[in-house]
Amino acid sequence: MKSIFKPLLLASAAALAMVAASPAFSQAAYPDKPVSLIIPFAAGGPTDAVARMIAIPMGKSLGQTVLVENVVGAGGTIGATKVARAEPNGYSILLHHMGMATAPALYRKLNFDPLKDFEYIGQVVDVPMTLLARKDFPPTTFPELQAYLKANGNKVSLANAGLGAVSHLCGLLFMSQIGIELTTVPYKGTGPAMNDLLGGQVDMLCDQTTQTVPMIKENRVKVFGVTSATRLASLPNVPTLNEQGLKGFEVKVWHGMYAPKGTPAPVLEKINVAMRAAMQDPMVKQRLADLSSDIPSSDKMTPAGLKTHLEAEIAKWGPIIKKAGVYAD
Ligand code: ASP
Repeated sequence: MKSIFKPLLLASAAALAMVAASPAFSQAAYPDKPVSLIIPFAAGGPTDAVARMIAIPMGKSLGQTVLVENVVGAGGTIGATKVARAEPNGYSILLHHMGMATAPALYRKLNFDPLKDFEYIGQVVDVPMTLLARKDFPPTTFPELQAYLKANGNKVSLANAGLGAVSHLCGLLFMSQIGIELTTVPYKGTGPAMNDLLGGQVDMLCDQTTQTVPMIKENRVKVFGVTSATRLASLPNVPTLNEQGLKGFEVKVWHGMYAPKGTPAPVLEKINVAMRAAMQDPMVKQRLADLSSDIPSSDKMTPAGLKTHLEAEIAKWGPIIKKAGVYAD
């Protein structure tokens, strides 16, 4: 007797395959493989540090490994472009900072539009910066630094993580406020830049506390000031640049998490839940507090909270950058 089961089995296998391929099913099953959290700067830097802090608790919440992937170059725009062009399936997400807001003004040939090519997951963390020099740099006080830079100008090297990086922006603001031009040295991230500062191959660096607080506390670099409006709990004896005469010098580096445009809403929701869970993780909260980094309020950790802030920051930095006449390309 001819088996009637085979056709039935084939039919149900085909039906099952169709259901499994359906968007609703794949969204419900998301994630069923590791998720790539793309960091547009080199390993070892401040953005990478935040990513590696939150990757494990995010993975716990999602039930899948979150792999940190460093895609470097061009001040963070290469990594951002990779995510803008990735499959909108939730397996490629981007953690990037305010460089998303400065890139449109700095790069005339930008391969992505921050306001069209992404879905927004939420704001992640706000990080102040510190102005550093190598350990044996001659000046020690801020007035000595100003006099030394005026006398030596472009003989002094200032590292950054490429045009569009916040270290670049901080350096620009610093040079314009004290009226001198230093020789800027670009790196793929301030992780490698910090290595050269510690090794004495470069003179100065403006970088985020998520990397610099331990170096300062271990007395491995010289610190001339912090870019926050008030002194930092982690560095109470370090004056702000504002109180040392650079009036209004305030840079706080906000970070956002993004997915490619078209990523389904249920998938974005799961990523947002995982991101929030990570930011509430006791280890993450303590570590970020130790590094004087602020976790945004709950309303900012939403798609609307990030999109609104990004729009405002693009509107704010565009004219400043255009006025400074700085272009990356
Ligand atoms: N956030 C970059 C990094 O992690 C540095 C920068 O933007 O200045 O390397």
